[in-house]
Amino acid sequence: MNAFATFGAMWCLTFSLGPVSHVRNQDVTSPDPAEKLREVVALLRIAWGKDFDSNYPNLLLGSSPTVVLIPRNEMIKIAAARLDGRQRDGSTTQGLTIGEPPNVKIVVVYDDIAPLLVARTIIHEIGHLELRGKRLSRNREEARVRKIVDTGFLEKAFGREWLKTTVAALRKKVVAVKKNGRQYQGYTPEAVEMFYQSLEKAGASIAREPLHDQIIASLVFILTNSEGNLLAALDADDVP
Ligand SMILES: [Zn+2]
Repeated sequence: MNAFATFGAMWCLTFSLGPVSHVRNQDVTSPDPAEKLREVVALLRIAWGKDFDSNYPNLLLGSSPTVVLIPRNEMIKIAAARLDGRQRDGSTTQGLTIGEPPNVKIVVVYDDIAPLLVARTIIHEIGHLELRGKRLSRNREEARVRKIVDTGFLEKAFGREWLKTTVAALRKKVVAVKKNGRQYQGYTPEAVEMFYQSLEKAGASIAREPLHDQIIASLVFILTNSEGNLLAALDADDVP
């Protein structure tokens, strides 16, 4: 069964990164990993459409897959090692792309994140790979992946009508924020709650917990701001 092949593969990276315990703490509240992976794969099927049959085996299966699903404690170690040359907080990072093609690895946390958001991260990181050739600045690439790839994923998962209605509703809940002479749409707790509900209505129930709140808030920001605003926000973050 392919599902187990993928989960088997994630240990490879674990071992290559150094000595870690083989015994993992399974979060008893999280669903069965195989069931969760089935949900992730079902979402990838929707997102990739006709390309699923080639993308899935090419990217997620085999002895050395490009996309490796890892538990949170591994992400904390990888982020600390700065394998992609950047400082990050591994406790909140969902995915990382390490190296350059053809020797590229995408690591995605699966254990403390809802399946929808795991699938989104896989698609997001692959979006980075596809944009690599364009040689955009790091922030420009990030802004584009967020605006085009993340939004596109939600549109494929839930439909154009859902996306349109949701964005229109979110726009009424966000607030205008002026920073460095630029006007952003800032997320609010009401907007975050509305997005949870909107996803729930579309069939994707996501537990309300701090890490999910943070991701949902960032998706609200992505959906209600232009790519230019996303870029400006990333640039502003880089200012020490
Ligand atoms: Zn990214």
